[in-house]
Parts: sequence; structure tokens; C-alpha cells
Amino acid sequence: MFKKLIDYSNKIFDLFSIIASITDRRIKAQIATVKIVAAIIVMHFTNQGSLHSLSQEIAFKKLKAYLPSVSTIARTADSMDLADIRDVALAIYKKARAKKMLAPCHGMWVGVVDGHEQITSAYCKCKYCKSRTVTRKDGIKDIQYYHEFTTFILAGPKVSFILDLEPILPGEGEITSAYRLIERVLANYPKAFSVVIGDGLYLKETVFNLLKAHHKYAIAVLKEERRQLFEEANRLSLLSEPESYRQGRTYYRVWDHSISGCWDGYGADVRVIVSEEATPVRVHSKDGRSFEDKLKQGKLDVGHKSAPLKIIPAV
Ligand SMILES: [Zn+2]
Repeated sequence: MFKKLIDYSNKIFDLFSIIASITDRRIKAQIATVKIVAAIIVMHFTNQGSLHSLSQEIAFKKLKAYLPSVSTIARTADSMDLADIRDVALAIYKKARAKKMLAPCHGMWVGVVDGHEQITSAYCKCKYCKSRTVTRKDGIKDIQYYHEFTTFILAGPKVSFILDLEPILPGEGEITSAYRLIERVLANYPKAFSVVIGDGLYLKETVFNLLKAHHKYAIAVLKEERRQLFEEANRLSLLSEPESYRQGRTYYRVWDHSISGCWDGYGADVRVIVSEEATPVRVHSKDGRSFEDKLKQGKLDVGHKSAPLKIIPAV
């Protein structure tokens, strides 16, 4: 299986040739960067959670002879040229797209941007670490170091593809990092997607204006904090009838509003989609012998989990 995966990666993506272009900042390096990159790829291909577990895994005894030491891999990875790695990702994306391995969602190429947290440590600290105070069970407070980054994923029905990621540096928020990330993805992958989706944090005029300038749509969750828009959407929902439909076991009531002039800082019109969703709960029937489906209190709109509002700029 492992050999098949390597053969496939080479045949389709020329993987172990293109990674040879990755460089690092070591002076007088004894082991070529490509061997370090290959070791990291092998770690992922063999589904090992860490370099340490890869080096300990008995099943890879033969492989171990070729692996640099864990500390060499870690030290080299720290100084690798990120632009080189991004070029490799771009080359893989282009091949995957040309070979139709990636597919759009409902006819649209969709990018998803979000923040993630990675690794926490009580001891290990570098210049990119953020820190916070955590309280242990015994009440003692500890400092915890952790890394955060934003990712840009090309979402597909079967395969989602990470186009790029960017650290969230100490002292900065997710949007600052995401803005750098989106700018770079727009430059490197100008035609890869037409829509970008984010959570409530991304309902920022900076993000929407940046995407609009590149002729991309933006979709973000609308939260109550953007009061004017939120209230206008709710007001319009009271005045108009929703579309109602059922998909699987879930009932939907959906409103689609076009709103202008309710978002200071973003001049263009937006569409606000309001969606109420209800899934019946299976309960014991009165005689206790069977089950029946029941919407709470028998009403479609009671006990419903109201889906967050979503906002889309009008064309
Ligand atoms: Zn760190």
C-alpha cells in the first residue's frame, strides 16, 4: 500500500522530483533538504502523528535506515523556505485540476477560510507562540503556549484541498492573518475559486472589499453584533413568506433578502439568507410499544434550531 502511494504520487504529481526545489537556510548542510521533506511526507503517508512515532515504528525498520534523525528533521523544517513549499503546492494543485481530480460544489468553486489551533505546550516556546493562562484541576495556574494559523481550503464534494496557510502571530487577531492569506491566495490562485466562505468573524468590510476588488463573492455568518443588518433581515422576514421544503428528515424555511444601506463601510448591496431548520425527534408512542416522529409541540417552528444568517453580496 505504501509503495503504491509513493508510485502514484510520482506518476501523477512527480512528487519526489518537485520537492527537490525546496531549500532551507542551513549552512554546510550534510543532509539534502529533499531527504528531510521526503521524511516528513513519509510520516504523513504512514499516518504517524509525529516524527518521533515514525522513528519508533517497528514496521518501518527498513525505512529507518534512510531517515534523518528527528532533531535534524525538526531543525531543518524550521528553516525551510515557505515560498518553495507553496510552489510545490501550486504545482500539485495545477496537476490535480488539469486531471479533473477536483470538483466544484453545486457548480461553484468554493474557498473556505478559517482559523485553527495547533499544538499546545507548557514548556516549548518560540517567537511565533501565543500564550494563555490555564487553570489546572488543583487550581494552580499555568502558562500554556500554542500556535494558531488560518487556512484556505478549496472545498469539494469528495476532496478538499488546502491551498495555503498563514500563522496568526502573537498579538494579532485571526482576521489580520486571514487578510494576508487571502491576498496571497488571490495572487497565486486567481482562478481557483469564485466564492469565499467564512464564519461570523469574516463579516468585515476589509475582507468583503478585498474579495469584491478581485471579483469574488464572499459569504459569512451574520451575527447579532452587526445590529442594523441583523434587525433589517429579521424585520423583512416578518413581512414576507419563506420558501418551505424538506430535505431528508429536515424541514427548512428559507428567506432570501436583498438589503442595501445597512452596513456602514461596505457600500454594495448584500443578500441575507435566513434559514430555519427543524428535524423531528423520534419518541416513544403513547402505548409505549413503538416509536413515532414528533416535532416539538407539533409545530414546525417550535424547538427549531435557527440556523445562522448568512450574507452574500449582491451582484
Ligand atoms: Zn512556538
